[in-house]
Amino acid sequence: MATQKMLTFVSTPRETPEKRPAIERSEDFHEIYREFADAKAAEQASRCSQCGVPYCQSHCPLHNNIPDWLRLTAEGRLEEAYRVSQATNTFPEICGRICPQDRLCEGNCVIEQSGHGTVTIGSIEKYITDTAWEMGWVRPAAPVMERSETVGIIGAGPGGLAAADMLRRQGFQVTIYDRYDRAGGLLTYGIPGFKLEKDVVLRRNKWLADSGVEFVLNCNVGEDVSFDAIRGRHDAVLIATGVYKTRDLNLDNADAGGVVRAIDYLTASNKVDFGDEVPDYDDGELNARGKRVIVIGGGDTAMDCVRTAIRQGAQSVKCLYRRDRANMPGSQREVQNAEEEGVEFVWMSAPGSFVGHVTGVAMQAQEADVDGLPQIAPQIANVRVQKMRLGAPDVTGRQAPELIEGADYDEPADLVIKALGFEPEDLPKLWGVDGLEVTRWGTIKANFQTHQTSLPGVFAVGDIVRGASLVVWAIRDGREAAESIAGYLTGEARVAAE
Ligand SMILES: Cc1cc2nc3c(=O)[nH]c(=O)nc-3n(C[C@H](O)[C@H](O)[C@H](O)COP(=O)(O)OP(=O)(O)OC[C@H]3O[C@@H](n4cnc5c(N)ncnc54)[C@H](O)[C@@H]3O)c2cc1C
Ligand code: SF4
Repeated sequence: MATQKMLTFVSTPRETPEKRPAIERSEDFHEIYREFADAKAAEQASRCSQCGVPYCQSHCPLHNNIPDWLRLTAEGRLEEAYRVSQATNTFPEICGRICPQDRLCEGNCVIEQSGHGTVTIGSIEKYITDTAWEMGWVRPAAPVMERSETVGIIGAGPGGLAAADMLRRQGFQVTIYDRYDRAGGLLTYGIPGFKLEKDVVLRRNKWLADSGVEFVLNCNVGEDVSFDAIRGRHDAVLIATGVYKTRDLNLDNADAGGVVRAIDYLTASNKVDFGDEVPDYDDGELNARGKRVIVIGGGDTAMDCVRTAIRQGAQSVKCLYRRDRANMPGSQREVQNAEEEGVEFVWMSAPGSFVGHVTGVAMQAQEADVDGLPQIAPQIANVRVQKMRLGAPDVTGRQAPELIEGADYDEPADLVIKALGFEPEDLPKLWGVDGLEVTRWGTIKANFQTHQTSLPGVFAVGDIVRGASLVVWAIRDGREAAESIAGYLTGEARVAAE
């Protein structure tokens, strides 16, 4: 690989890896960005200005040593770059693909602020670790000494997996319980393949199994085994169950046929991508083929739904969001990708009600009018769309959407996907656990640094503590919690270094 001098940002323009043409990528679930060629990665890494106070590093939740691995990449010392990169991040190739870099590392790059365009940190991070996998540099953990203490982790998402990795490296015996049939949490069943191909996640799951982590899948804690039983089996327990309760809409015909939850829709699509049999997809309920699709919401989940619907062959895909483009929570990069693929965004709009039509089956049921028979909901026909304008800022400082009276109209729809965000399930109640304290939002109360909950020996990380957040934060939590669990088990006070 060619060796490059640093600080070339003045003469070398910013380049991202090539994006597959929209017409081609809309036909499949493969990732849309191609890999950097070796010379291009070195060239782009050499744009880094190696500043004394790297804001990219301080704005990365993992405090990745970005300037060092950029320099090593520019110098063609890729194995060393990989060693530095993996020292602070359990899944660098995953973060490189799906972190919202524009809000984190790249958004704080100094050369971006001087108008030269940020270093493409995420793409280079992905390139380094993809190369490491190809070259065989990524090896399972080989603890110097096995320890007898065991840790039970509930939830195999990025938070639980990151903790498992750090604990195994120190020789602890780790068992992860997950209710799904595959590990990875939202990396596996939430985020679609066009952002994160499933092989990338599966090889990490295998790497952890090869490191000696035991996976107990298809095991729903609270149903198949009690939380108390897990506590009884292990010396410490980590709760990393994420948040899955969908925020709902209180509208007329909210339960009409064809109105579905984003998580069900995306999980079904990911399962189909794995080649699994999915009856709700095969019978059309969770399949957008040939339909007029409306997705409600403006976050990353909504972006994943609209782009999945395009790939399933929807007739049209519209996204309703009650604020404008500048005020949406989802990544601008994803909006642009979605628009290129044919999604229409209807800004400043919200559903007022769902208008259903009574299908033949529902009609028969109603006509029969037999006592005790369940009422069959109508099928979605239209979404009555309300138009909004942005009013005065609310307590959070964001401009609150206000209704424009009399501007409603009907938008025909065959499939409506609700992507309004997620809330925590009531775990203490679901699991019948006394003394597990939650916050007023229902998330588990845990110390910010140690991740210790109100129960001795029980720790918690990721979305179930933070509320719906990001993969990189779950990884950070998991790594930190592993340190304090190790301290708890060995009697040494340990808090992960900032
Ligand atoms: C559609 C979608 C797209 C997203 N896109 C991005 C993105 O592009 N970039 C980004 O950074 N973040 C993204 N996120 C957010 C990110 O996926 C989460 O913040 C992250 O996965 C949280 O990790 P976690 O380990 O806390 O939980 P999860 O990933 O949710 O994993 C929790 C695991 O716990 C298991 N579990 C739950 N309850 C039980 C139980 N009772 N018994 C056994 N197992 C249980 C679940 O099956 C799951 O496997 C996205 C989220 C969604 C929904
Ligand atoms: S982990 Fe995310 S925020 Fe940190 S350097 Fe990588 S892409 Fe940027």
